[in-house]
Formats: sequence, C-alpha cells, structure tokens
Amino acid sequence: MPELPEVTALAAFLTEHATGQRIVAVTVASLNVMSTYDPPATALVGRVVTGTGRHGKFLDLVTGPGPDTPAGAPAELHLLVHLARAGWLRWSDNISAAPPRMGGPIALRIRLATGGFDITEAGTKKSVAAAIVVDPKSVPGVARLGPDALSLDRPKLAEILGRQSGRIKNTITDQTVIAGIGNAYSDEILHTAKLSPFATAAKLSPDELDRLFDAMSSVLDSAVSKSVGAEAARLKGEKRTGLRVHARTGLPCPVCGDVVAEVSFADRSFQYCPTCQTGGRLLADRRRSRLVK
Ligand SMILES: [Zn+2]
Repeated sequence: MPELPEVTALAAFLTEHATGQRIVAVTVASLNVMSTYDPPATALVGRVVTGTGRHGKFLDLVTGPGPDTPAGAPAELHLLVHLARAGWLRWSDNISAAPPRMGGPIALRIRLATGGFDITEAGTKKSVAAAIVVDPKSVPGVARLGPDALSLDRPKLAEILGRQSGRIKNTITDQTVIAGIGNAYSDEILHTAKLSPFATAAKLSPDELDRLFDAMSSVLDSAVSKSVGAEAARLKGEKRTGLRVHARTGLPCPVCGDVVAEVSFADRSFQYCPTCQTGGRLLADRRRSRLVK
C-alpha cells in the first residue's frame, strides 16, 4: 500500500509535470472508483492543474478554471485519490487517447495537453477511491485525519501518544491519530527505534519516545527521497528498497542477524526482529498459537 513517502513522491512528480497544464479528458473506467458524483468527473475537463497536495495517504490534484471554463465554476476543484492497497498512479508522456477498457486494471485516466496519467489497481478487489470536491475536508477520510507524521515534533508526538492506550503498532498506523504511516513503514520505524510492536503507546519512557521520534523522521525522510529520486510515477507500482524487516519474514535482521519474525492476522501480517525489539521473545500470533494447540 502506498504510504506517505510514495504519495509524496507521486505528488512531487505531478507538481513538476502537470502544473500549468489543461485537462483534456477524464475517463472513469471502473464502476466504483468515484465516491462523489456531483460535480461529475467531466467538470475537470478544460480546467488547469494549479498544484498538488497530500493529506495523509490521499493524493490531491488541485485545479483552477481554464480559459473556457464557464463563469461561476468553482475557483478550486480537487481530485482526491486514495490508492488503498494495490493502487498506483502511472504517468505517461504519450498517454493513449483511446479510453481504457471498463473493469480492467485502469480505474481512471486523466489526459493533459501533454502527457497524462492513469490511476491503476491490481487484483480483483477494487478499493481505490477518487473524489472530485471543492473542499478536501468534505471527504470523510480526509476530515478524520490526525496530524501528519512529518508535521510532528517530539513534544507533540509525546502528547498524542500519551492519550493512546493501544499497542504502538496500531496507534501509529491509525490515520485518525497520526496521518501517513501504514503497515510497511511502521514496521521499519519500530525496528529502527528498537520498540516492540505490542508496547503500549501511552507507556513509552522518555528514552523510548526519543527513539521513536528519531526513527519516524529518519525512516520517512529517507523513504521520501528514495521515492522522489526513483520518479515514482514512471514505475508500475510501489518499489521499496532497503527495508530492514517489513515483508522479510525468515530473512536475517540486517542489524543483529536474528531471523525476522511475523505476526499474522486474517488479511495481513507484520514483521519485527525479536532480538532488536522484544528482548528475544516471539509475539503471540494466531497461526503459531493454532500450531501449538
Ligand atoms: Zn535484529
């Protein structure tokens, strides 16, 4: 799932390549991708891209009126996209003028005066969502977001976590608490901070908070520069390199050499290093408990 670093990189790419361009065509090629219908997707045609933004894991394409936009049209219209688990934004310098096939891997195509992009979604479960709105906060998922992970300083992080009685892994991935961090980067952050994913958020010591704050900044900053450098929007999907524990079950921890362990749930799993993070203990896991019984 694209998280803060990838969405930041996609937005940066669009800022550079799409700003100032007129939207020539918008094709909706998935029945369920649009979560708003008024204004319709065609309201974007003829408007000009004025910039981009990011709200947590939502990508925001900001448009203003073009030369032929009717008087009275909104000064700003936002195309908000949530890429969910398997969504991506793929830029093409020579985007096809033919509309994409309904129900295929392309959910939405935006053609600009020069080039354009597709919102794609791999797999059969379709969860990518797009909305066209005057105010981003009218999208419930955006309205609910907590402060952005990159906007936090150490005192603010302490204040936020002090109110949370859940496990730290769940807390820092809860978008209403902190926006932008998902399963992959939380694994990396907790490993870098040498914290157990099951530690109670409100009970972190000042030293643990220091480590968590430093790890959040360093892991996210480095991932943002890698994704921006890789020209994310020219890739087929998210491509992460140099991960320490996430998605590396059974492989050696790059810090201590211990075997990376995982905790699995019905539809997802996360990874950690027992030696670096949990004093050598394996965390309770439903698959493991079932084997023991
Ligand atoms: Zn380790």
